[in-house]
Amino acid sequence: MTKKTVLITGGAGFLGSHLSDRMITEGYRVIAMDNLITGNIKNIEHLMKLKDFEFYHHDVSKFIHVPGELHYILHFASPASPIDYLRIPIQTLKVGSLGTHNCLGLAKAKGARILVASTSEVYGDPLVHPQNEDYWGNVNPVGPRGVYDEAKRFQEAITMAYHTFHGLETRIVRIFNTYGPRMRLDDGRVLPAFIGQAIRGEDLTVFGDGTQTRSFCYVSDLIEGIYRLLLSDYAYPVNIGNPDEITINQFGEEILKLTGVQQKLIHKPLPKDDPKQRQPDITKARQLLGWEPKINRAEGLKITYEYFKNLLNQSS
Ligand code: UDP
Repeated sequence: MTKKTVLITGGAGFLGSHLSDRMITEGYRVIAMDNLITGNIKNIEHLMKLKDFEFYHHDVSKFIHVPGELHYILHFASPASPIDYLRIPIQTLKVGSLGTHNCLGLAKAKGARILVASTSEVYGDPLVHPQNEDYWGNVNPVGPRGVYDEAKRFQEAITMAYHTFHGLETRIVRIFNTYGPRMRLDDGRVLPAFIGQAIRGEDLTVFGDGTQTRSFCYVSDLIEGIYRLLLSDYAYPVNIGNPDEITINQFGEEILKLTGVQQKLIHKPLPKDDPKQRQPDITKARQLLGWEPKINRAEGLKITYEYFKNLLNQSS
């Protein structure tokens, strides 16, 4: 039997590379596409020698050409951390809008099913808690996060339009804060920032008073949820994340304990429009996909810490 082919945009990124692993394991032929602005070829080096894996160096905001049959598209190309999308705001807007349009056009031409990576950022600084999929959000379009949030909101709108107008098979996952191996140590997000600071002997920089909350999902749980959503028949957005919510202060304390260092938490100004609270309501994922996270934070953080320690040992 010939294998089905899946295109994974952002395939050399944190989530894209884990998805590439998963799809190879599930018996698909994988084409990973990435312009390597925030992705890293090292994340997929181990797949390069496989006959069922191919890497295309390409910017999906430009016309995408893929020869032959294509059965699935997973659109995961996008800068995803606040400091990245502040540094490259136009590319962020383009990949979420033009890039999504290109992926949808390709899916239509090939008769492929497409799953797009949306985000909890569509809820902005949420006024409803926990966030369920029916909440429309509270986003500042012209604030620093607007370039990412609005691109992703446009992405959801155009994906739904292709579904209703062209009858395309579409899936939308709203991803909440996720962590694990292959995150970039310098991506500015709180987990790599804190672990990097702990290892380098620096104090941990908590932004604001640290009472803002997040809910962190370990990467293998997220990938499982995405895989199940891809194979489901549900076209509306589905939250995937871990509802175990903590304050950033508590999170900092956990990292200090995990790493066993003597430093302390220090406070820096809170970036503009930083959401005050975030917790996914995963009722829909539970009901539709029979999915819920399995890895608790203690376990996930331990694996991630080991990964970053090894990474730093190799580079020193
Ligand atoms: N944060 C922090 N110190 C850092 C990096 C981030 O206190 O060095 C805070 C940030 O202000 C936010 C939370 O940690 O409230 C999560 O930030 P992250 O960039 O990981 O993702 P976000 O959920 O804000 O997109």
